Amino acid sequence: MLSYQHIYHAGNLADVHKHALLAWMLDYLTRKDKPLSYIETHAGRGLYRLDATEALKTGEAAQGIERATDEGWFAATHPYSRLLSQVTGLYGDTAYPGSPMLAALALRPGDKMNLAELHPRERAALEAAMGPYGAHIHARDGFAMALAVVPPTPRRGLMLIDPSYEVKTDYDTIPGFIDKVTRKWNVGIVALWYPILGSGAHEPMLRTLQQAHPEALRHEVAFVPAGDGHGMSGSGMFVVNPPFGLEAEAAAIGCVFDHA
Ligand code: SAM
Repeated sequence: MLSYQHIYHAGNLADVHKHALLAWMLDYLTRKDKPLSYIETHAGRGLYRLDATEALKTGEAAQGIERATDEGWFAATHPYSRLLSQVTGLYGDTAYPGSPMLAALALRPGDKMNLAELHPRERAALEAAMGPYGAHIHARDGFAMALAVVPPTPRRGLMLIDPSYEVKTDYDTIPGFIDKVTRKWNVGIVALWYPILGSGAHEPMLRTLQQAHPEALRHEVAFVPAGDGHGMSGSGMFVVNPPFGLEAEAAAIGCVFDHA
């Protein structure tokens, strides 16, 4: 039984890293007047409230997105800032978008979204949040859903893989999963988020991924762990088929974290 709930961590520094890169990639893809597919294996709720008891309990958003906003880490014209403003405009000042909501607001009519969420309560919230945006929501394992829908129509597009790594075998199975996806969908942008762990548990997965995809972009930022006993001291994104300009954008985001 899954127990992870992203509401405790929504808006933390890892979310800021992942969502800023995602927003930039979505902006890049939607500059061209051609439809695209967005696929997400581990969707979460789509929309969060930063004043929810769970979010306040950890205080992770206060160290993450609230600092980023108060201190102006991203220019008002950055795609992430623009999407954040859209969300607070639509849903109120304490609203915070998960990755599916960022995608829904970036996509255009004719673009397609496939989202998987296994946890029934998280999925109910996702359906409520994403209902107006016409996303196809799958009540099944996200890895199986992704393999079933690739290559998607439209063929150009982006897949986000954002597991909670609650299932420890994810570290072993993800490289094989990404191989299968990229063999079936060689033009897709495939972005994997992973935690940087003091234990080094993520490192063998990254070594295997880099051997298989030497042209991929690996980008990591370091930060102070959210609290005593937190093993996560940074956030990583591994992007197969990175769009042109992502490397420079990731470097700029890295500088933001260096000075945070
Ligand atoms: N991507 C979201 C965002 O950035 O807003 C956060 C996703 S959260 C880290 C991971 C989610 O994956 C949780 O809601 C969990 O219930 C769900 N989940 C865990 N294992 C899954 C699986 N095998 N297939 C689909 N969803 C899964």
